[in-house]
Parts: sequence; C-alpha cells; structure tokens
Amino acid sequence: MMDVKENVLGAIGNTPLVKLNKTGCKNIEIYVKLEYYNPGLSVKDRIAIGMLEEAERKAIIKPGDTIIGKTSGNTGIGLAIACAVKGYKFVAVISEGNSIERQKMLRAMGATVVLVPQLPGEKPGQISRIDNEAVERKTIELMEELNAYRPNQYSNPMNWKVHEKTTGREILEQTGGRIDAFVAYVGTGGTFIGISKALKNFNDNIKCYPVEPDVAPFLAGGKVITTRHRIQGGGHAVKPPYWYEELVDGYLAVSDEEAIKTARNMAKEEGIFTGFSGGANVAASMKLDSSLDSGSVVVTILPDTGLKYLSTDLYE
Ligand code: PMP
Repeated sequence: MMDVKENVLGAIGNTPLVKLNKTGCKNIEIYVKLEYYNPGLSVKDRIAIGMLEEAERKAIIKPGDTIIGKTSGNTGIGLAIACAVKGYKFVAVISEGNSIERQKMLRAMGATVVLVPQLPGEKPGQISRIDNEAVERKTIELMEELNAYRPNQYSNPMNWKVHEKTTGREILEQTGGRIDAFVAYVGTGGTFIGISKALKNFNDNIKCYPVEPDVAPFLAGGKVITTRHRIQGGGHAVKPPYWYEELVDGYLAVSDEEAIKTARNMAKEEGIFTGFSGGANVAASMKLDSSLDSGSVVVTILPDTGLKYLSTDLYE
C-alpha cells in the first residue's frame, strides 16, 4: 500500500502541536499549533479549501470559473493553491501594504494579483481600517466586472465551521482532551469561534480568550486608539459577522513590542519561526500565567511563518 496524498490539498491540516519550553511561565504549559505546516504556510489553507468545496457542493461554481478573494494574503494563498489544483482562475485583491512575500507567492501559484494602494499617510506593513475598506471596495467592483465568485471569509460560516471540524478536533485529539485554555488573535474570527465551539462542546470549562492589539481592543469594548499596529491579519476594529460572545471568557491584549519580542524569542530559543500574530498569540497566552491554576494547559495558534515577513524588521 502506498501512503501518499493524491494532490497537495490532502496535505492541509493535521499540523503538529508543540510544547514551548522557554516561556518562563511558572504555572502554565503553553502548546502551539504550527499552522505553517500547511502547504500555503498558513492556517488559511483550511478555510480556503473548505469554502471552495462547499460552493462546489452547492453547484455555485465549476472548474474554469473565476474566483475572487479579498485577503491580507494568507487566505489568498490558500485559495490560489486550491484553485490551481481544482482548475479555477483566481484573482487576489490585496493592500499594497502587505508584505512582498505574500504578493510573490500568490503570483507564483497562478493568481492574478490586484494591488490596492494604501491611503495617503498610511504605512506599509500596517494595514489600517481605511486601507481595509479600500480593498473591500475594489473587490466588490471587480467581482461584478469579472462575474467572479467570492468565497467571502468574513460572511461565510464555513470559515468557522472548518475550524470547528478540523483544527478544534485536532487540538482535542492531540491533547487527549487535557486542555484548560485556548487563545487566538482575531481577524475574521473564524479561528477563534470555530475552535472555541469545538472545545466548549467537549468541555464547557475550557476557557477561551480572543486576542486584540492593545491599541485597538474593540471587541473587548475598550478604547480604540488606532488600527495602525504591526500585527497583520487582524485587529481591524470591526466586529466579525460571526461572533458569539458566549464563547468568550475574557479578552487579552498585546502590544506590537510584546508580539515582536515573543516571536523573536521563540525563533531564537525554540526553533519556532512564526509571524507577528503568532508572537501575539504566545505573548497573550503568557499573560494567563498569573491567573490560571498551576499545571494548566494553554493551547494557541501560530497562524503563519516568519518567512512571510522577511521583508519587514520582524527578523533582522
Ligand atoms: N494571523 C494571520 C497572519 C492571519 O492571516 C489571520 C487571518 N486574517 C489571522 C491571524 C486571524 O485569523 P482569523 O481570520 O481566523 O480570525
């Protein structure tokens, strides 16, 4: 018997869960799910294939059609992979402020990349809310022009459902159900909501904590000072269409500096190479050390790899 995947889509998911050993935490154990093991090097491969296959099941799309995506890059790369394998044309609409690695990866995998200029005064590497809105407007315009199908990760419930079915279930299997808390940075909210649903369905005592930038604690009901922060992939100060407050046990907030320092430490001391949001998730998890019982198991996500940020100053 051959033990192979029929195509690369079979290599999505079932990512490793790894213990961190150098966090300096006294009470808690932190485990990170290495989502950069996915073929597109991010967590978003899971939802890209999930959303496309759902649209195929509903006969909304068929191979040869055009798919369009508004994405900070990671979902686009997942969609580019799924479209390449399944035979769809793919148009990715992204902000010029996203890292060059993401743009190049999209093009390499056959996507047509439409870059939306940042608004005057906005900085590369910091996609603010107004930048995000400009990308949204361009996507809607092109969707109509190209008669393209848009698997909108914000309004598509498959986003969180895929996480409930795959990532959440994997975490329960990998920990043998021995998990006390879960932490995740929020963009569309799909990762947080889907995994939290799976965990609480298994055991309602598992505490679930969304993470936001300290300058934009919007969901927590705090004061939004700015959405110009460094933690790409979320923290846009918008409420995700699918947001279930009953899953939230408390909000965590981290600064750019904490996210960056934690990502750098993880790389240097543990050989784990993640991006800004991975650093944010671990920095936020570490804050639970003072409040959770001794021996508590905390699980968080490393959404993508440091390779996607080589053009930034995350790593020197
Ligand atoms: N980190 C990165 C790097 C991302 O690309 C995203 C997705 N936008 C997130 C975190 C947040 O994940 P979600 O959209 O599932 O909330």
